[in-house]
Amino acid sequence: RYPFSIPSTAHAQRLYSMKHSAPQLKDQSLFIEKAYINGEWVDAKSGETFEVHDPATGKLIGTCPELDTSDVEKAIEAASEAFPKFRTTLGRERARMLRRWYDLVIENADDLAKLITWENGKPLADAKGEVNYAASFFEWFSEEAPRLYGDTIPASVPGNRVMTVKQPVGVCGLITPWNFPAAMITRKIGPALAAGCTVVAKSPQETPFTANALAELARRAGIPKGVVNIVTSSKNTPAVGELLTTHPEVRKVSFTGSTTVGRILMKQSASTIKKVSWELGGNAPFIVFDDVEDLDAAVTGAIASKFRSSGQTCVCANRIYVQEGVYDEFAKRFVQKVKDFKLGGGFEDGITHGPVIHERAANKAHEHVQDATSKGAQIVIGGQRATALGPNFYHPTVLTGMTKDMLLASEETFGPVAGLFPFKTEKEVVDLANRAEVGLAGYFFSGNVRRIFRVAEALEVGMVGVNTGLISDVASPFGGVKQSGFGREGSKYGIDEFMTIKSITFGGM
Ligand code: NAD
Repeated sequence: RYPFSIPSTAHAQRLYSMKHSAPQLKDQSLFIEKAYINGEWVDAKSGETFEVHDPATGKLIGTCPELDTSDVEKAIEAASEAFPKFRTTLGRERARMLRRWYDLVIENADDLAKLITWENGKPLADAKGEVNYAASFFEWFSEEAPRLYGDTIPASVPGNRVMTVKQPVGVCGLITPWNFPAAMITRKIGPALAAGCTVVAKSPQETPFTANALAELARRAGIPKGVVNIVTSSKNTPAVGELLTTHPEVRKVSFTGSTTVGRILMKQSASTIKKVSWELGGNAPFIVFDDVEDLDAAVTGAIASKFRSSGQTCVCANRIYVQEGVYDEFAKRFVQKVKDFKLGGGFEDGITHGPVIHERAANKAHEHVQDATSKGAQIVIGGQRATALGPNFYHPTVLTGMTKDMLLASEETFGPVAGLFPFKTEKEVVDLANRAEVGLAGYFFSGNVRRIFRVAEALEVGMVGVNTGLISDVASPFGGVKQSGFGREGSKYGIDEFMTIKSITFGGM
């Protein structure tokens, strides 16, 4: 399954013989089975660990420390101690640190991509794309760090002068998911460090090794000890989450993950009135109008948006609405593309789609398919597990004849299942699109400029793709509305999440 030769170092040999599926890294020292606290690689005080498995093969990748709250307290203390010095480090110096970190990520992109594929399962080419996307947040925010301007404001009281300064909020607790093991973390740490904050990041239990490799590169980039701490946990995660959201020294919590967990963290954060931002689940509508100018582009956009990372991105098209005049032709061309997919382990040559993260995810995809077919949908392709490949593989699936009473219409599938819903009018489809409780991304294809403005403004989402299925860009603000959360990442706004505005009034001038 893995096209790698047996690695040469003793450590890597051991890994290879023990686990058989270890990819050969150019720099094997980036594979670290520890947590990173106060500039040191540490184990849990209890000595406990948890296992991490390759989603493609089920084989053991390695173990990480099962930290408990006493370990994480140490990380918070380290971040708290590092903060006074780091906040006063010149913006230009923080920029240089982030730039060095960016350079190291790019230099080690191949190894980082292999780690991502190994623990997340996505095809190696996609993992490389993720590394570049992840690195772009360090580059972007290194450019923002020296330009944290305040205002001078004409006062409304005679003789007064008002100015504002932007200041780092303090220690930040960051929690991220496994679906982008590198990018979800850098999208938070980049702006946090640019602002002058220090961080304790809880990495996802499914994909802790990518986060650890990033931390090792932070160390090599000369980021001072205590500024970046990476804590690892699996079963202790709810307790660790509670500590991060209630500890008085943690001033900001930024979470990316499911709406269910976001809701818990938001309640917990209330006790100490933390500054918070939530990047939560989506259920993106993808609409194709009869007046689409290029139907092939709409098909390509829908394929990219729906099936990237086997349907496991928060901005994945979940409900594909196609107007009656182009429905049949769209469905035909869409299915044709899905037929060309090649499912397999992320390291295999020529594969286009990998496994889902775990069996629960495959079960959820299947549940959505069964629910839809029991209510009258037809399976055009897929609709079952790829059991020959392993328990975490699900055949890319296309369903037609979808209706609004089906689970897929109201719940995020987070798997490789595309449901095509027919619709008649613009009003009908905008109402259907806006029925969701969440509102992260939405897409539509149309060649009518008046409709383009109307629909873009009417969709209740934080991000709209018009005549494109790909919207992620470091320059563009990323975030949702409704139960997809609030706060924006990337862009010129991302850094504001980690800063406070202080106004200073001068009297008797
Ligand atoms: P999840 O909410 O189960 O887990 C996300 C993170 O939270 C993980 O690190 C997990 O260990 C941690 N966690 C779980 N329970 C916790 C608790 N009680 N306290 C503290 N931390 C806890 O989500 P997931 O299944 O890992 O990720 C998929 C979800 O993430 C999807 O809903 C997806 O849409 C969403 N997502 C959103 C964005 C965005 O930018 N809006 C990006 C990626 C993923």
